Amino acid sequence: MSTVIIVGGSYAGLAAALELRQRLPAGDTVRVVSASETFIFHPSLIWVTQGEREPADISFPIRPVLEEAGVEFICAQLETIHPEAKTVSLNPQQSLSFDKLLIATGGEWDWDAVPGLWPKPRGHTVSILSPWDAIAARTEWQALLADSGPVVIGAVLNAGLYGAAYEFALNLDIALRKAGVRDQAPITFVTPEPFLGHLGHGGLGNSRQIIEEAFARQKIPAITEAQIERVEAEAVVLAGRRQRLPSKFTMLVPPFKGIKPVRQVPDLGDAQGRIPVDDYYRSLNYPDIFASGVAIQVKPQVSTLLPCDVLITGTVSAEMGRVAATNIAADLGHGAAVRKPASALKSFYVLDSGSHGLFMSLGSQSWLNLQLNVPGPWGHWAKVIAEKYQMWQIQSGRY
Ligand SMILES: Cc1cc2nc3c(=O)[nH]c(=O)nc-3n(C[C@H](O)[C@H](O)[C@H](O)COP(=O)(O)OP(=O)(O)OC[C@H]3O[C@@H](n4cnc5c(N)ncnc54)[C@H](O)[C@@H]3O)c2cc1C
Repeated sequence: MSTVIIVGGSYAGLAAALELRQRLPAGDTVRVVSASETFIFHPSLIWVTQGEREPADISFPIRPVLEEAGVEFICAQLETIHPEAKTVSLNPQQSLSFDKLLIATGGEWDWDAVPGLWPKPRGHTVSILSPWDAIAARTEWQALLADSGPVVIGAVLNAGLYGAAYEFALNLDIALRKAGVRDQAPITFVTPEPFLGHLGHGGLGNSRQIIEEAFARQKIPAITEAQIERVEAEAVVLAGRRQRLPSKFTMLVPPFKGIKPVRQVPDLGDAQGRIPVDDYYRSLNYPDIFASGVAIQVKPQVSTLLPCDVLITGTVSAEMGRVAATNIAADLGHGAAVRKPASALKSFYVLDSGSHGLFMSLGSQSWLNLQLNVPGPWGHWAKVIAEKYQMWQIQSGRY
């Protein structure tokens, strides 16, 4: 009888667990360990700070989903991986052994990448990248409405989640207009990308044109190939050009790094703790360890003047989870292995500008490359419908 441990209960971990349960015989154990009892639909975090969504609207408990499917669930923090002994140590204290381990833990935000980048009070920014940060940012949002001033939104070197920064800037513009204070709150967007819509991929379809048009329409100037030197209490300072952008409200996406238990295992992760894998999602150095989702290393296929990470979407993370699950099952003698590099995976992204929408369906085959500009409030509602539909899909194991 075999035991597979999956660490992480989000896009990659849930998809992998449900796939594995179907592929392995009933006597084999599929066990998910996750630090959180809850699945969060990250794309809707861009709306939490302005009060358009509450975290409860965009989350659901994962235990019933997993247990109903016959997957064991342990809510605990992974502390240490022992690849040779094939065990993991958890907090609360527990040691579990595995035949195969799948790491689907996403990553940690590297808030130390730039001085002052930490969310307030430790640094000078606000963050929308987790539910608790997005809620905490409401105080700063209310302060901005009461006493408006300049706003800086964007991403620092090596960041990858450009989509969230674009959407937050565009939605903030609409919210400031609705509050009647947009004239007193000029927004500047800063990014290391060579152009808007680059996304670390060199652009996806006509993403450049659509995103540049949205920023022009909503009067948000962008500084591309920008390197942020530091964030101050009321300014963002750019390196090289020594430009100082005044800012009362700053939201910047940091780079990702792998979680500490991965960084502690020699040669499991790269310098940032992201896990290099082969096209089967197997660690290059530990054959019984697989990884999926944001936890893995994906090297940019295009070069840029300043380092840009690659956007890894929720759809792609879930697909990686399923492919890894198929290959783990194959290793254990059930079914055939599949080879699917990250660049071959289908991705789906709905970008909401508050006033327009952009569907991006992306993949290696040309017929998957579809971009659709949706004008007017339909764009916003398309994203809301995508939220409801995708949450239903994930909860019912169809994602
Ligand atoms: C603000 C925001 C907006 C986004 N917008 C979009 C969008 O519009 N469309 C889109 O496709 N994608 C979007 N994304 C990206 C998407 O959320 C990611 O691609 C996806 O979350 C990656 O899934 P994952 O399973 O790899 O990791 P994650 O979702 O990060 O999940 C990691 C899991 O591991 C668990 N974990 C972490 N560390 C440990 C530990 N030490 N022990 C135990 N468990 C641990 C966590 O609790 C969690 O369950 C957005 C992300 C953010 C933050």
